[in-house]
Amino acid sequence: MNNTRHDWTKEEILNIYNKPLMELLYEAATVHRKHHDPNTVQVSTLLSIKTGGCSEDCGYCPQAARYHTDIEKNDLMSVSHVKAQALRAKESGSSRVCMGAAWRNVKDGPEFDQVLEMVRTINKLDMEVCCTLGMLTENQAKRLAEAGLYAYNHNLDTSEDYYKDVISTRAFEDRLETIDNVRKSNVTVCSGGIIGMGEKLEDRAGMLVALSSLNPQPESVPINTLVAVEGTPMEDIEPVAIWDMVRMVATTRIVMPETQVRLSAGRTQMSREGQALCFFAGANSIFAGDKLLTTPNPDVNEDMEMFALLGLNSQKPFEKHDQPETVEASDSALQGLGEKPKWTRPGHTIERNEAAKAKSKIVQ
Ligand code: SF4
Repeated sequence: MNNTRHDWTKEEILNIYNKPLMELLYEAATVHRKHHDPNTVQVSTLLSIKTGGCSEDCGYCPQAARYHTDIEKNDLMSVSHVKAQALRAKESGSSRVCMGAAWRNVKDGPEFDQVLEMVRTINKLDMEVCCTLGMLTENQAKRLAEAGLYAYNHNLDTSEDYYKDVISTRAFEDRLETIDNVRKSNVTVCSGGIIGMGEKLEDRAGMLVALSSLNPQPESVPINTLVAVEGTPMEDIEPVAIWDMVRMVATTRIVMPETQVRLSAGRTQMSREGQALCFFAGANSIFAGDKLLTTPNPDVNEDMEMFALLGLNSQKPFEKHDQPETVEASDSALQGLGEKPKWTRPGHTIERNEAAKAKSKIVQ
């Protein structure tokens, strides 16, 4: 039975966030072990397929055209370049590729067609493919789904109350609308936010209220810490303490037990001990590669050393949330696969025995 709650209040979430740390860690780790393998962490690679020149004004983002930052602008990457990068990522242990384009919204036309071709290409490499391209219509979400997109990222960033202090060129409701459009396709949802942008604890809790109230909850929730970049309005904000990150990860894990919690931007500011605490508290994904879109990230080899040190394994592609209803499949649902031996996603088939293995992995 699925006991996931969608009615968390801000007060309840703040009470969890502010618990004595040892209690919070114990509770989060207990939830984590019930729903996930605590020794498995997914390695994902983020590729900036179109960099800079964005018309939005997200206060944290060096890619906004209106800020004077020293990022190198790039037009949309070629499909062959993306394929080469994805293959390299796969060889270094990544099971997921997330492609980010600095666009306000997706526009139908040759560039979107090129992105669809990138999705098809990575899908054929047997990797999870995710995109973050800005606002999306229902029809565009369906076209991405047909191309084999596994996940679409669209972060809420912060609470609804604080949103207008961070971005003025679009509203919180616009974000929810895109997430809703993604949900109308069979693409999984990736949506999280950033801490350390000058928000209050209430805003962190407010963001988790908004994410956890989505039904179904996002399959993936990235938690970023601000990487303050010179030239952006947030350039002078001091980094958050590691304890804030640990508390945020733990609280996210408790209120969204099934979701994949991703340690995202800001890992270069974290020690290995800090990251280990985050894994204990329920983080089960990192982004690999020396850059996260445009900001620095630890080197892949350093991450692999950390995995060896902590005894962590890299998650295989499609181990989680292949089909939301399958993740929670009951035995009888799996027996149903006897009559219908395969289920399909665009470009993929999973044999019944793999389905059973996937299920046992998820529920152990
Ligand atoms: S976060 Fe995305 S939408 Fe906002 S300015 Fe940067 S690239 Fe544009």
